[in-house]
Amino acid sequence: MDKLIFATGNAHKMVEIRMILKDLKLEILSQKEAGIDAEIVEDGTTFEENAVIKAEGIRKIAAQNPEYQNCIVLADDSGLEIDYLNKEPGIYSARYMGENTSYDIKNNELLRRMEGVPEERRTARFVCAIAAAFPDGTTKVVRGTMEGRIGYEIVGENGFGYDPIFYLPEYGCTSAELTPEKKNELSHRGEGLRKIRAVIEEMKKFL
Ligand code: IMP
Repeated sequence: MDKLIFATGNAHKMVEIRMILKDLKLEILSQKEAGIDAEIVEDGTTFEENAVIKAEGIRKIAAQNPEYQNCIVLADDSGLEIDYLNKEPGIYSARYMGENTSYDIKNNELLRRMEGVPEERRTARFVCAIAAAFPDGTTKVVRGTMEGRIGYEIVGENGFGYDPIFYLPEYGCTSAELTPEKKNELSHRGEGLRKIRAVIEEMKKFL
């Protein structure tokens, strides 16, 4: 069976990817399971560039091992874009106010910066770019998004990161109040993974 390596150290993402890609008849491995502990510097200027840099970088390293010469490598880059703040924190979402700063502090700071901003100007979205690097040297990249608004307070216990300030008007709650199943159905990452699944299915015909 062909192998697919997902370039992440995040266990949550592995659960999600295994669920969404399970019909592809590929053996799905995390980067760690493939024995690769390299970290690729994400110095791109867009989500797409960063995802491609990571997927191609890890594919190069993986291909040095004969076992993984024919593998596909997937990598994602995601974050929150707030329109009123010129799309901040954007590609710096994880690094915003420092990598080790708690999300309680980051979320409170974003709420403070949005103080007095009227409802219609609080638009925001989660973005997830996913790149797939194939053994023939081609790389494809897709984008998934989830549109919403920045709320007025921290609400909800589920999810992670900026979920407690991300309000979904159609559902009347934040993404931190959704069940994990519902979040996968609606999320930027869910959408990105479903799109990349279609790309891989198409590419597999030619590999
Ligand atoms: P990365 O793509 O793993 O580098 O994550 C980027 C950062 O974007 C995360 O650390 C979070 O701050 C933010 N982020 C991405 N997706 C979500 C989400 O679904 N909910 C909340 N925050 C998210």
